[in-house]
Amino acid sequence: MVKTQRHREALNSLLLSTHLLAVEILRYGDHAQPRENDRSKRVCRFCKIDVETPEHALLTCGASPEVVSLRRAFLEKLFIDAPTLRVLMDLLEPIEFFKAIIYERSTIALVAKFAYEVLEVFYETPVVRSAV
Ligand SMILES: [Zn+2]
Repeated sequence: MVKTQRHREALNSLLLSTHLLAVEILRYGDHAQPRENDRSKRVCRFCKIDVETPEHALLTCGASPEVVSLRRAFLEKLFIDAPTLRVLMDLLEPIEFFKAIIYERSTIALVAKFAYEVLEVFYETPVVRSAV
C-alpha cells in the first residue's frame, strides 16, 4: 500500500510504538539517562507543555513552524482525497482522528509521507529530559 520504504517505516513506527517520540523513548533509561516514569513529564521537545505523542506531533503541536506548514499542506490534500475526514476532524479528539486517518486505506500513502516528514523534523531536535 505504501511504496516508499522510509514512509512505510515511519507509519509502522507509529502503529507499533517504535518511534522515537518522548512518550515512548523516555520510558526507557540507559546507562547515561534515567527513565521518566511520569508520563506527563515526557513533554514535547518543541512546545515543552504537552506529552509528545504521535497525535500531538502530527496533529496538534503548534510550536514548530515547519510542522505547522507540513500539516497545513497535508490536511489540504487529505480533505480533497477524503472529504468526510474534514467533518471527523471537528468531531473527534486528536487521538481518535489520528486513528481514523492511519486506518483510512485510500489515503495511507499520503499519511505515511506526512508521518515521515513530521518525524524527521522532530528527530532533528533532541528530546527534552528533565533535570536529574
Ligand atoms: Zn508540542
